Order: sequence, then C-alpha cells, then structure tokens
Amino acid sequence: MSGHSKRIVIITAPSGAGKTTITRHLLERFPDKLAFSVSAATREPRGQEVNGQDYHFMSAQRFRELIDAGAFLEWEMVYEGKYYGTLMSEVERIWDSGRAPMLDIDVKGAMRVMEQHRSLCTSLFIRPPGMQELERRLRQRGTDTEASINMRLEKAEFELSYANKFDHVIVNDDLSTAVAAAEDIVGRFLSEDA
Ligand code: 5GP
Repeated sequence: MSGHSKRIVIITAPSGAGKTTITRHLLERFPDKLAFSVSAATREPRGQEVNGQDYHFMSAQRFRELIDAGAFLEWEMVYEGKYYGTLMSEVERIWDSGRAPMLDIDVKGAMRVMEQHRSLCTSLFIRPPGMQELERRLRQRGTDTEASINMRLEKAEFELSYANKFDHVIVNDDLSTAVAAAEDIVGRFLSEDA
C-alpha cells in the first residue's frame, strides 16, 4: 500500500445522529493513519472546548482575511451567521505527518470538497434511524429548547436529502454496529493503493 498518498475522510451527519462518538472511535482505531482536522470557526467556544483542539476560534474579521488569502479548502456559513472552514494548512500538516485528515463538516462543505478532490476522498453520512427517533434523542439530551429542537429537526430533514450523494450511508440505529461499519469502510479506504 502507498502510505504517503494523500487521502481525505469526510464525515457528515445531522445533529443527534451519533457522529461525534463514531468520529472519536475512528481516531482511536487508526491513530497512525487518521488525524482530526481542526476547523476554523467564528462561534464562541462551548463548555470544555479548547482552542486549537476542537476549533481554531477566531473573529469574523480574521476569518474573512483568511478567505481573501485563499487559506481555505472549503468554508461555509453553517448557521446563525457563523463561519466554519477547513484550513488548507491543517490538511497539509496532517498529510505531512503521513496521515489522512478526518473532516467533520456539514453537507455543503462536504459537497464542495468532494467536487474538487473526488479522487482523494471517501465520505460517510451517518443517518439517524428516522425523524421520530432523532426527535426523541434530541429531547432526551435535554439541552435544547423547543425552538432549537425544531430548528435542528428542520436542518436534519434538509441534510437527509443529501445522503445519497455520499459514498457510504451508515444508519445508526445501533451504535456498536454503526462504529464497526465505519471502521470497516475507513480501514479499507486507508489501506487501498492510490
Ligand atoms: P458545532 O457548532 O455544533 O460545533 O458545529 C456545527 C456544524 O458545523 C456541524 O455540522 C459541523 O460538522 C460543521 N462544521 C464544523 N467544522 C466545519 C468546517 O470546517 N466546514 C464546514 N463546512 N462545516 C463545519
């Protein structure tokens, strides 16, 4: 296998589909082959989030300077007027370490990267079992207001309409099965010849 070829792994899912857990498992399973791509973002850090680890947090002005400088592989205004983007420098740094960047990005960002770098990518869409189950999980978290739940459900419906554009759709009705499926797909992708 050619360990030095450039690869990109993209993971996308509606909020509440279990993406964070699956991403964490993949990074633990393939520490020598995969590294989390830390995005730039203009929202405020939440809870335990660490600058430079969860996101490169920055002002909108700085973000726009980076757009003008051509520093992004892709960027989107994901919601609430907040910018999120994958820095080319982050991707290069991970490639230089001999690994593939794992991009946890929204559907539009994912489409953009796939359009531009088709041959380098594999993409996973994590699908909640159904809208009812997604609603149940969002309510169970107990962290969202009614308005926020409705907003997330609406966004989820929009995102679900893009599922068939991804290379792999994993239905997360059982977490350990979903994790095993994701490991299998990513493991095979990372050991393929370029
Ligand atoms: P959160 O604010 O909850 O951390 O993330 C909100 C959404 O932004 C998630 O769906 C996440 O996948 C997406 N996101 C995070 N980083 C990026 C990025 O660099 N580019 C794009 N397009 N979306 C991102």
